[in-house]
Parts: sequence; C-alpha cells; structure tokens
Amino acid sequence: MRVGVPKEIKVHEYRVGLTPGAVREYAAAGHEVLVETGAGEGIGASDDVYRKAGAAIAGSAREIFAKSEMIVKVKEPQQSEWTQLRENQILFTYLHLAPDPAQTKGLLASGCTAIAYETVTDAGGHLPLLAPMSEVAGRLAIEAAGAALKRSAGGRGVLLGGVPGVQPALVVVLGGGVVGTQAARMAAGLGAEVTVIDRSIPRLRQLDDMFLGRVRTRFSTIESVEDEVFSADVVIGAVLVPGASAPKLVTRAMLKSMRPGAVLVDVAIDQGGCFETSRPTTHAEPTYEVDGVVHYCVANMPGAVPVTSSQALNNATLPFGLMLADKGFAAALENPHLRNGLNVYRGRITNKAVAESLGLPF
Ligand code: NAD
Repeated sequence: MRVGVPKEIKVHEYRVGLTPGAVREYAAAGHEVLVETGAGEGIGASDDVYRKAGAAIAGSAREIFAKSEMIVKVKEPQQSEWTQLRENQILFTYLHLAPDPAQTKGLLASGCTAIAYETVTDAGGHLPLLAPMSEVAGRLAIEAAGAALKRSAGGRGVLLGGVPGVQPALVVVLGGGVVGTQAARMAAGLGAEVTVIDRSIPRLRQLDDMFLGRVRTRFSTIESVEDEVFSADVVIGAVLVPGASAPKLVTRAMLKSMRPGAVLVDVAIDQGGCFETSRPTTHAEPTYEVDGVVHYCVANMPGAVPVTSSQALNNATLPFGLMLADKGFAAALENPHLRNGLNVYRGRITNKAVAESLGLPF
C-alpha cells in the first residue's frame, strides 16, 4: 500500500505521523511511504533521515494527498486537508469529532474512511492509542508544577523534593488513572509527599500495591478533596469520566483556603478541566493566577516534547497502521479493536458515541 505522511499544520504541532523508525517497519513489510518534505523537522529528522529509512520525499501536501491510499497523521485534519481527502482513501489519526461539526461535515463529504486513534480499543477495554499521550502529560505535569512553584514564577518557592531536614512539597493528584499514576510516580521519585485521590476503590488498591506505601491513597469525597487541597503545594487535575465533561472538584471558593502560591496543574483541561477556575492556556503562556493560586492549563502538553511524544505515539499506532496497510481496510477491520476506531465510512458516522454527541444518524 502507498502510505502518505503530510507535515502537521496545526499551530505549534511538532509531532509527526510516522517516525523514521516506523517508516522502516512499513518499508520492511513491502509498503511505499511518501513523506512530505520537512515533516520530521519538529523531531529533528531531516528528509535525508527519512530517505535512509526507506521513504520517498514529496514536495507538497497536495502530492501526498493525491498519491496515497492511506494518510497517517497526528492531529485532526484541518480544512485545507479534509478538502483533499477522497473516496476509498484511509485517514488514520486523532480526530476528536464530537466537538467539531465542521471537520465532521468535511470528512463525511470527502467519502474517505476515517479511523480515529482515540476510539481504538484493547482487550482490557482501554484506549491504547490515547494512553501514551496521557503518560507523557502525567510525567510532564510534575515538571510543570516544579517550574511554577518557583518564587520567580509566582509560586510558593518550595522545592518539590525538599532537602534533608526540610519538609518536601505536598502533591495531591486528583484521579489515579494513566495521567495520575505517572504524575504520582514522578512526584514520589523526586521526593515529594504524594496523595492520590480516586473514586474507584479497585484502582486505589492497585495504586497502593504499586507504590508499596510510598504514595498515600484516599477515596474521593468532597471532604477528602478539601482536606488534601487545603494543605497542598501542588494539585494535579487528572480525572476523567469518559465521554463527559470533567467534574469540578476544586471550586473557586476553595482557592481562598489554599496556600498562597500553591500550583494547580489541570491536565484534564481538554475535557473542560476539573478546577472551576481553569481555562485553556498554551505553551507560550502556560500559567495565570486566580486568588493567589497559580494555574497551569495547557491543553496539548505532549506537544512540548515532540521527540518523546512522536515515538510513544508511533509505538502504539504502528501495529494498527501495519494491519491496515498489510491486509487492506476491509480485512483489517475484522479486528474488533481497530473496528472501534472507525468513525467515518462512505459519508456516514460509524461510531455510536460520536454520532450521538453530534446528533447525527448512526
Ligand atoms: P483515566 O481514565 O486513565 O483516569 C481517570 C481517573 O479519574 C480514573 O481512575 C477515574 O476513576 C478517576 N475519576 C473519575 N471521576 C473522579 C472523581 N470524581 N474523583 C476522583 N477520581 C475520579 O484517564 P487519563 O488517561 O489519566 O486522562 C485524564 C485526563 O487527562 C483526560 O481528560 C485526558 O483527556 C487528559 N489528558 C490531557 C492532556 C493534555 O495535554 N492536557 C494529555 C493527555 C491526557
């Protein structure tokens, strides 16, 4: 199959659909890979590196869209991209169609077959193509918190790990899923005192086993959240109720009882955020202050580390991408997990949750 990789065009998106390592795998399996010139710039991979990996270089996105049977990307297609998609062409990328009627309309009109990373499943009922980005964001959340805690950045002026003889920072993680676990691991590794709050008792048990007492766990109630947040130096927002907006676990009123200069990192901002006072920010201006509490609410945290994020994403997408290229679309979709990723086919929405949230027929 001929697989095309256009350069990402969304603002400040530096990741790439296929890394040179992934290109080698496609080439070794007998596929032709066409990469747009400069597509790997954000991860420091030149056209020559892609050529050595077995790709041919195309001078423009137009050439990629015209010649490829499958397009592999990172972010949802922008208007100039979806207008170039065509019938029988496969699009394999993050789509996030539910809040995006314009893109949905464009994909439906194109007649393409669109498979969304975010709805591909695994045997455990998880979302394996979302998890790597949650891992990146969870680990980054503690780096962001450490930077924001510095006095010069408006924070309390506390070192996450303390030093011998001085108390470390108190880090509270709301939600002990993928993001929360990675944040807890990083914070504990730096020597901070860490509490994870979750509403799932089985999950709290797993965390207790995993961290062998190094991280405290608490069941999520209004009282436990208040207790922990009022004494925290850092609060990481990492809750998710699939398909729904994040619950507002920290209200504006609560900020007044927090320590001045404490830091809130709302990783769940892409689902609306779990602090009442959160609003999306960018890597260019990541923080702002409300009632003396520093807020960090960057909606695309993995974009800050495109080298790590592109590799992590490719590790997860590669087996599914190869399945599509090797078997062709129809046979590959006999795999029920890849089938769950199918969002658009022949001008129709094929994912029930996506159709319902857009009010479209399924
Ligand atoms: P996950 O499903 O693995 O974990 C969510 C956890 O929240 C679960 O353990 C669940 O039990 C818990 N939870 C739900 N309601 C709760 C409540 N009321 N109190 C306490 N815990 C509660 O999800 P994840 O992969 O860790 O993702 C978390 C969020 O981070 C999602 O919104 C995700 O989209 C977001 N995210 C953001 C970025 C970014 O760049 N900002 C990057 C990756 C992921």
